[in-house]
Amino acid sequence: MTAENPAAITVDTARLPLALAELRLPSIARLWPEFTERADREGWPAARLLASLAELELAERARRRIERHLAEAHLPPGKAFDSFDFAAVPMLSKAHVLALAAGDGWLEKGANLLLFGPPGSGKSHCGAALGHALIEQGWRVLFTRTTDLVQRLQTARRDLALETAIAKLGRFDLIVLDDLCYVRKDQAETSVLFELIAARYERKSLLVTANRPFGEWNDIFPDPAMTLAAIDRLVHHATIFELNVESYRRRTALTRTRQGTGRTGSRPPVAPATAEPAT
Ligand code: ADP
Ligand code: MG
Repeated sequence: MTAENPAAITVDTARLPLALAELRLPSIARLWPEFTERADREGWPAARLLASLAELELAERARRRIERHLAEAHLPPGKAFDSFDFAAVPMLSKAHVLALAAGDGWLEKGANLLLFGPPGSGKSHCGAALGHALIEQGWRVLFTRTTDLVQRLQTARRDLALETAIAKLGRFDLIVLDDLCYVRKDQAETSVLFELIAARYERKSLLVTANRPFGEWNDIFPDPAMTLAAIDRLVHHATIFELNVESYRRRTALTRTRQGTGRTGSRPPVAPATAEPAT
């Protein structure tokens, strides 16, 4: 009898918050009163309510995952594509870069991306923007200065935990190794860098930024054979972009000067780029 008159049924929801917490459904736990109230008011079929709550939880779960991935990625703030001026680097194909930013099959194959260019040409910005876009697609990314990661791996090696440390980095679909050329074989035993490159070869992607061409990479690795082996693995499945432009920082400084918004003086400063930080 009562089943024919739903309004007459009183539902005991006292246990619902606990049950939803136990089931790990925090979004439903937060929003079910609003949803059920609306469903009652608008006369939704029960299936519609259930489907709406399930979709809500899934969407919120995806959003929380992306937030976690953004936090773990250590991307430099403010360096996304919306602030990247492709017109400033005409040799960089915007369509190609945006295809890579959409995933485009390269991360599944563990293919690499190498960005060459002088200081200030936008390598780090472009690498960070790619990382940002890929995280939004659900990939896991780590952005790190190469020297920082090498130090971490050396510490791990001293603790006899290099293999574990490299295996843990396998959770990242892409590691952005920023400024590979600042690693020095005399500063550190960079064979750990080689171990990382070898371990990820054809499995997980690397994005390397470098301000010096391959010919000058002998300063990085302990011996020429290892340099060759590292380059070989990096380039085997790789897209290589060369950002052969003058420093963006220097160019914007010059523009400001010419427009009279920077330093005063009839001539642009000769070398504002000397203040270039090592990025
Ligand atoms: P690199 O890593 O090649 O030394 P960065 O990516 O750090 O250069 O760029 C230097 C500065 O100039 C950063 O503040 C960056 O955001 C900015 N920049 C470089 N290229 C561009 C660009 N094409 N559009 C917008 N900003 C840029
Ligand atoms: Mg940089």
